[in-house]
Amino acid sequence: MNSIVWIIGSAWPYVNYVPHLGNLIGSALSADVYARYLRLRGEKVIFVSGSDVHGTPIEVEARKLGVDPQEYSEIMHRIVSELFKRWNISYDNYTSTESKIHVRFVQEFFLKLYERGLIFEKEDELPYCPKDKIFLPDRFIVGTCPYCGYWPARGDQCEKCGSLLEPRQLIDPRCAICGSVPEWRKTKHWYLDLKKLEQDVLKYVESNDRLPENVKTMSLSILKAGLKPRAVTRDNRWGIPAPFPGAEGKTIYVWFEAVLGYISATMEYMEKSGKSVEDGLKIWKDPNTRVVFFIGKDNIPFHSIILPALLIGSGEGYVLPYTISATEYLMYEGQKFSKSNRVGIWIDEALKIIENVDYWRFILIYIRPETKDSNFSWDQAIDIVNSILNDTIGNFIHRVLTLIKRRLEGITPKITKLEKHDEDVRDEALKVFREVENLYYQIRLREALHKAVDIARIGNKYFNERRPWDVLKNDRELGSSILGVGLHLVKMLALSLYPVIPESMSRLWKMIGYDKDIIEHGWASGYEPVPEGLKLGDVAPLFTKIDKEEIKRRLDALMKDRAVRWSRKFPWEQVIL
Ligand SMILES: [Zn+2]
Ligand SMILES: [Zn+2]
Repeated sequence: MNSIVWIIGSAWPYVNYVPHLGNLIGSALSADVYARYLRLRGEKVIFVSGSDVHGTPIEVEARKLGVDPQEYSEIMHRIVSELFKRWNISYDNYTSTESKIHVRFVQEFFLKLYERGLIFEKEDELPYCPKDKIFLPDRFIVGTCPYCGYWPARGDQCEKCGSLLEPRQLIDPRCAICGSVPEWRKTKHWYLDLKKLEQDVLKYVESNDRLPENVKTMSLSILKAGLKPRAVTRDNRWGIPAPFPGAEGKTIYVWFEAVLGYISATMEYMEKSGKSVEDGLKIWKDPNTRVVFFIGKDNIPFHSIILPALLIGSGEGYVLPYTISATEYLMYEGQKFSKSNRVGIWIDEALKIIENVDYWRFILIYIRPETKDSNFSWDQAIDIVNSILNDTIGNFIHRVLTLIKRRLEGITPKITKLEKHDEDVRDEALKVFREVENLYYQIRLREALHKAVDIARIGNKYFNERRPWDVLKNDRELGSSILGVGLHLVKMLALSLYPVIPESMSRLWKMIGYDKDIIEHGWASGYEPVPEGLKLGDVAPLFTKIDKEEIKRRLDALMKDRAVRWSRKFPWEQVIL
């Protein structure tokens, strides 16, 4: 029995808005592909995430709309959950930071850190908007950058020159919500003493050889510059009440509580599965457990430094991340995704332009910004569907299945007679299949997908040269054995592509004639041919080409409609109604 449990966690989306394609590829979609791949290998997987619902941006957004932040975030959570379902993200538990288990867990966790002497309090002067009656953290205060003169630089960072800023440094500071001049008010905050944990975290990062280059480099450079204490409380009303003595009215800073959601979501999952929250905790404290995170690169420090620091600081023996897959940035037609500049496509909109989720999943993994930034363009997306998915993959699969249907009465053949060339082709494909397996395992998802397409290329070339339809006329045994090899390649393709396009490949599995689900057969079954004597199901093309003009027409309509949608109270209410 395999006692390893894999906890797959994708970054928790902040639900003041629905995710865009760049958010999706970095977190939920990449994590889903990996989770599905592991399940295909027969691994025990718990795939968790949830909506990050607390904090200032949601509080401000809700106030603008005249609704309660709780009500606002519940609606947004339902919308985002529904969208993830439509994208076939196979979460075992997608929850929210408002879940009771999470709130209790976070409070107990921080109290523990406090009791262990890792949290201290300090008084500070922070900007406060007298009109909105709130303290203005991070991006809620804007002003002129003291380094480059850019306006509006944010209270934590200048977007133009990248300098890290303190609100005090901003020239002519303003409230980002109403434009008022802020006052400076004294307020007390609780700080995590990261200095005390720095050496342990450094040891963890240095000794973890599985962390990819981008995660390791960024984490080490931050750690070597030295960690400063960071405030774990905020003056927000909307959040998890800080549990420290004297901290009444303060809440825990969203960043520090959302990362603990991976644990509370596992606890909640275990409880929902008829076990207990303690069983969820046990998994997190079992040294055999492998925790893997999928995030965008802007989230690296919170997963590679802050979360490990919290886990080590608790002294509870939690496992630290086994590895962290952090994508670089996805651009949209050469520009940064930006809601305020209306650049990009959001995951609700995408499905209105191309309805087939598998097409989207294939496109996005095919261009996954794995080691460097990548660009989404409609021309390339259409080309990927038409020439790779349809012409190369779909065509090969369809050729094999229709030949078996027409020439072998739809019964899968026995491989009894092969010539050297046939054996070579099969062995070459098996070698590629093994490479795909290794690439997936190493979370090189884009490379795995590109490699998987090679199986279809090998198959097409093989059939063009070998012409099994001619061979069948003179040597039925050899001809049907060749179709058997072709079908074995189709099987390898089905398994290789299942993590990326699960719906289509489950359909293909049925077409081949299997009764049981592809997951039950598992990855290893791909090293064996399809057994003889199965009856093919209904054979139909899996993919069709998409029409460039039609896409353009839909995109134009979407952009026109967007102005109206985005001015509505809840732009996505039609999603859940
Ligand atoms: Zn600047
Ligand atoms: Zn204001």
